[in-house]
Amino acid sequence: MTKVTVGSGAHTEGRRGVDVANRYWCGECSFKTPWLGESEGLRRQIEHYAGRHPGTPPGGQVETRRRDPGTGHGCLRLAAVALVLLAIVAACRR
Ligand SMILES: [Zn+2]
Repeated sequence: MTKVTVGSGAHTEGRRGVDVANRYWCGECSFKTPWLGESEGLRRQIEHYAGRHPGTPPGGQVETRRRDPGTGHGCLRLAAVALVLLAIVAACRR
């Protein structure tokens, strides 16, 4: 089984279940699982092999990417802080 890392985050320290999503590619057909946690993805892959390729040991590829939950929210939080500051300044000027 070959591991393929997608995206710039090639650091290995981030590979802790929640931070990383895995997509499992079938080696026999064009099937691939959705982006899932490692154990869930592996389960889907094995289920697919059991259903579609009985007798074939699971192979193919694992694609790994980092989940970046913080990027969008960081900007939103900055905007919220700016709004609060504006409200305070407006309140002080009265
Ligand atoms: Zn398949």
